[in-house]
Amino acid sequence: MTNDTHYDVIIIGSGAGGGTLAYKLAPSGLRVLLLERGDYVKREIENWSTLAVNKQGRYNTKEVWRTATGAELHPHTNYYVGGNTKFFGAALFRLRREDFGELRHHGGVSPAWPISYDEMEPYYTAAERLYQVHGERGVDPTEPWASAPYDHPAISHEPRIQQLHDDLVAQGHSPFHVPLGLRLNEANRRKSACIRCATCDGHPCLVNAKSDAQVMCVDPALEYPNVTLATGALVKRLETSASGREVTGVVVEREGKIERYSAHVVVSSGGAINSAALLLRSANERHPNGLANSSGVVGRFYMGHVNSVLMALSKCPNPTIFQKTLALNDFYFRSAEWEFPMGHISFVGKLDADTLSAGAPAIAPGWTLDLMAKHSLDFWLTSEDLPDANNRVTLDRDGNIVLAYKPNNEEGHKRLGNKVRELLKGQRACPIHGKDCHVGVFARNLYLGQRIPLAGVAHQNGTVRFGSDPTKSALDVHCKAHDVDNLYVVDASFFPSSGAVNPALTIMANALRVGDHLMERFGMTASSGRHAGAALLSPAAGMPAIA
Ligand SMILES: Cc1cc2nc3c(=O)[nH]c(=O)nc-3n(C[C@H](O)[C@H](O)[C@H](O)COP(=O)(O)OP(=O)(O)OC[C@H]3O[C@@H](n4cnc5c(N)ncnc54)[C@H](O)[C@@H]3O)c2cc1C
Ligand code: SF4
Repeated sequence: MTNDTHYDVIIIGSGAGGGTLAYKLAPSGLRVLLLERGDYVKREIENWSTLAVNKQGRYNTKEVWRTATGAELHPHTNYYVGGNTKFFGAALFRLRREDFGELRHHGGVSPAWPISYDEMEPYYTAAERLYQVHGERGVDPTEPWASAPYDHPAISHEPRIQQLHDDLVAQGHSPFHVPLGLRLNEANRRKSACIRCATCDGHPCLVNAKSDAQVMCVDPALEYPNVTLATGALVKRLETSASGREVTGVVVEREGKIERYSAHVVVSSGGAINSAALLLRSANERHPNGLANSSGVVGRFYMGHVNSVLMALSKCPNPTIFQKTLALNDFYFRSAEWEFPMGHISFVGKLDADTLSAGAPAIAPGWTLDLMAKHSLDFWLTSEDLPDANNRVTLDRDGNIVLAYKPNNEEGHKRLGNKVRELLKGQRACPIHGKDCHVGVFARNLYLGQRIPLAGVAHQNGTVRFGSDPTKSALDVHCKAHDVDNLYVVDASFFPSSGAVNPALTIMANALRVGDHLMERFGMTASSGRHAGAALLSPAAGMPAIA
């Protein structure tokens, strides 16, 4: 089994799921091949340019997808080593304990996961350590139990955000510090990798101080001689044995040529949309509706959260540089007036005129985009969308991605927006404008709400769901395909429901969980050195018979 085309494990995609799994498997001695369609993000000054990143879409894929009606869709997604974590806001939340159970929403039911929060908890703790999350426990009333404190202190609020925090506390609320994966040392800024800049959320970090999957996982994994990364390696399809029970070939297009690889275990982690598309493209005689799709769920139940950006203008400027430090979950499950979940209130990175001009929002009367950006608090609201079988990824005749999505469960999101409006009315009077600083703004209707459009697939998940019933799910509880003995999926595809917090930490934690399962499958424990089971897995004996 020691040749350049056969490996123990092939991982397709190097983002939150694939990158984390590669890191987990690296010390095991297993021969791991990481296939990534993109390259490293080039380190250049444009990394930190809002004009280049947000307006010109410098790092977005140029791939064109289609909507259900055939319209062109230019997805806001990124193909690089580290995947979308290169661009993420590094808010690393655990799902709530209740998110793992069934939850009744206004728009329907959010289904239970086949594993409990308690089973995931050790992996959340491990993922927080690995990604050096800074946070505080015990403030957010919806926070699930944790077996350890954060290793790193919460990232401080700048004065305007601290003021908002204090105003919310005065109103009886429980705002808390966003758990963030930034390598910021506030006690000794001179020694800090992170400089706390204004261009973090949505941008690659020019100084590699963000805890993204490339910096924290892929690069350290590559220190091991048994881990290989191939960039520019687009996986086109997966081939199976005649029985259809094993993946026997991974077909890759690289520099215009077709290459073939094989492995005892193949893990798809191309992101929820691309993993579903890959399985659908890999249909064959044994898998006529797509690989691992006897249940018919592959591509279905696409979710991406109900997200909005809300700008709250005030007459006083908001000079905050790094804005994404405060969150509020007081309406996550319900409010005093409403019995259904509403969602999560947080921030985006500080908006500027270039970013605003990309979205072309209505300009408030008497303001310019630049002035608006200098005077706004820029909220990010997330509510849960529910899994709907008709919200799905399919392929057109040429094998290109088609994304059909009808929003649902929007009432809670609308109410969450109204809550933000109410909360801001309760802010203290400012010494210059008095209550008019905020209240006048509201009265003149200067709230500008913008729902994130379909192309905003940042929180994509759900398209290859896991579960214990093979007629209703494509993956088992270990994220192994029910129909294929050596195929796993560890990106956000496996989510049966998505909660209302950002998804990345759950993807990372799950990849660590699947990593433990794989090591067991290869006959080793997490701490034992080289795998004892290699002999069982000789290619001569066919693909692995391990269950
Ligand atoms: C601007 C932005 C901000 C965000 N902020 C946050 C945040 O603050 N907190 C949070 O939790 N989440 C955030 N997210 C979401 C988060 O980044 C994703 O949930 C996470 O990266 C998804 O992980 P994944 O492993 O599913 O896929 P990705 O991280 O997208 O990784 C998939 C990888 O697979 C590669 N790939 C795809 N298809 C193939 C193929 N056929 N062959 C080879 N390689 C392939 C891709 O190039 C990519 O590298 C944000 C996302 C964006 C875009
Ligand atoms: S320096 Fe810090 S704040 Fe700026 S992009 Fe890097 S990690 Fe984010």
